[in-house]
Amino acid sequence: MSGVHPCPICQRYDYRPLHVVRGTAIVCCRGCGLATWAWPTFEPREFYDASYWRSADIGKGYADYFALADALRATNAARARLLRRLLAREVRSIAGAAGSLLEARGSFSATPLPPGKDLGEGRALRCGRLVETPAPMDPGSEMIARSPATPQVEEHSRRLETSATVREQAFRVLDVGCGPGYFLQAAVGAGFAARGVEASEFAARFAREQLGLEVRHGLARREDLGDEPCDAVTMWDVIEHVPDPRASLSAAAAVTRPGGLLALSTGDRSSLVARLSGRHWHLYNLPEHLWFFTSSGLRRLLREVGFAPIRVAYEVCWYPLRYLVERLEASLRLGRGLSGRLGSLGRAALPVTLGDIVTIVARRA
Ligand SMILES: [Zn+2]
Repeated sequence: MSGVHPCPICQRYDYRPLHVVRGTAIVCCRGCGLATWAWPTFEPREFYDASYWRSADIGKGYADYFALADALRATNAARARLLRRLLAREVRSIAGAAGSLLEARGSFSATPLPPGKDLGEGRALRCGRLVETPAPMDPGSEMIARSPATPQVEEHSRRLETSATVREQAFRVLDVGCGPGYFLQAAVGAGFAARGVEASEFAARFAREQLGLEVRHGLARREDLGDEPCDAVTMWDVIEHVPDPRASLSAAAAVTRPGGLLALSTGDRSSLVARLSGRHWHLYNLPEHLWFFTSSGLRRLLREVGFAPIRVAYEVCWYPLRYLVERLEASLRLGRGLSGRLGSLGRAALPVTLGDIVTIVARRA
């Protein structure tokens, strides 16, 4: 087991042998069930070059990632809608909680809203103004200014100001490991102010030049994520690729505002399909996958770096038939005989869930 890195969740080295996948030993952490292997030290910015996205080598990357664009549109649009809905709900709940708290202190009473106006958002904006400019407004605001604020009121006021600001602007999302930018494209389409970070210079340039997106060439580490606080950070099928998942998730926490969201997806080694597939599991995809998480282990890691998981799901994703056949050929080392003969049928998109890719949304504490 030499060359295996300590478990990023348990932060210790206590592994047992699990499988041998095409000659490589996969080991499993006795503490949390995470699996890994003795991956060599490598430079992601070199590994994820143009040949990763359009690969003639069946053992590396994608035959043609760009052919997935149409099929992934539905998946990415659904992800963007989900994020927007959860963020809007979070803003309303903060506004509601702050309004109740201020009312309970006798220092604020909500005035009736015009018919059809959303209660939560109306309160957010109304309270935001009260808290920001207390002096010349109605009597309630002066009471707020005079009354000694408890830590809860201060915290709610701070979050309320954030939420009021958020309502007036687009939600800001940072997609870490954005690849050629197809999720970012969907996020922009859903009204987000979206930017990305991508290890592959080739993919980052594609996103900038072909899709007109704001994408930086960099890694999932603090110094590459920028300083602008985000309402949401996304990491779709990325965490299994990064050498130090704890550091990458901590970096995501550092750029997510309190109450903001992290959404990520990755293979779940504890799923039924993974367990039944044994060493043939299609996500034992060496060398690019370094870690194989369990849903519970990943949630534990998220909590430890400052995120509270609020939603765990096994989403349906859309893929072209050709891609699905290619994945099968790669897992079983069959060569590309069948996928090469699919013709136009290969472009047909199919909804797929094997229940082995978990999507977790977590709220920044
Ligand atoms: Zn562990």
